Amino acid sequence: MRIPSKKSLGQHFLFDTKIRDSIIKAAQLKSHDLVLEVGPGKGFLTKELIKNCGEVIAVEIDDRLVEVLQQLYSTSTNLKIVSGDVRYMDLNDLISEDTKYKVVANLPYYAASRIIRQFLEIEHKPSSLTVMVQLEVANQMIASPGQMGMLSVAIQLYGNPKIVKKVSPSSFKPKPKVSSAVVNIQIYQKFEVEILSEKHFFEVVRGGFSAPRKQLRNSLSKGLNITPQNAEKYLEKCEIDPSRRPQTLSLKEWSKLHVNLMS
Ligand code: SAM
Repeated sequence: MRIPSKKSLGQHFLFDTKIRDSIIKAAQLKSHDLVLEVGPGKGFLTKELIKNCGEVIAVEIDDRLVEVLQQLYSTSTNLKIVSGDVRYMDLNDLISEDTKYKVVANLPYYAASRIIRQFLEIEHKPSSLTVMVQLEVANQMIASPGQMGMLSVAIQLYGNPKIVKKVSPSSFKPKPKVSSAVVNIQIYQKFEVEILSEKHFFEVVRGGFSAPRKQLRNSLSKGLNITPQNAEKYLEKCEIDPSRRPQTLSLKEWSKLHVNLMS
């Protein structure tokens, strides 16, 4: 049965076996691994995942596809198909707290950043994420000081993102308008910079990026509701020139600022 794809759910189905193989290789799957796949679609990637790891839990929002998958994989003993929107799921209901897992997915563009951040910010994080995202988003993830944004800081706090492969629109059906990339993020066991409170750290970063084109003395003042003089005092204490823009700060400098503002 032909199922029309729903653009609103980011349904661009991969059909390029070479790209699928690069995703599987980048995920470095072991025979005992548990994999959480977001958006299995019609099962193109799922089929290889179940061959290469111990167990797959696949969460799909579209009930039409859930039905197809249930029929296609009715005899697979290491695949659990879960129907629902991953953004609103308590992942502890899917994977018990003491179980290690990896995330592998060709993510829907409209929610990719949000879904990645969800996995990074929960207590029970995966050991790695290997995901297909829009190329522009992938470039943001790996950006260096000078080009950093909220997403770069958020991803690089939790792990080490690397672009594994750039992917052309012609690898998907229907073809998306933009290029994509496979990204592998190895999650750190422990932060590489000093963090006293994740919540406060992100308040400071969000404050700094509240006016990305402004100098930090002004964007921090606006974002954190403090006077520009006070913002300047903190920045100087951290040896950060107050006239710099937020995208130029390194992760280490954001951490220094957060620690100083908290103490
Ligand atoms: N894995 C398939 C492939 O590689 O061909 C499909 C990938 S397609 C880019 C994204 C998939 O994610 C679709 O099947 C879509 O229905 C599903 N999806 C979209 N939003 C979702 C959400 N919030 N939670 C779970 N699945 C979602």
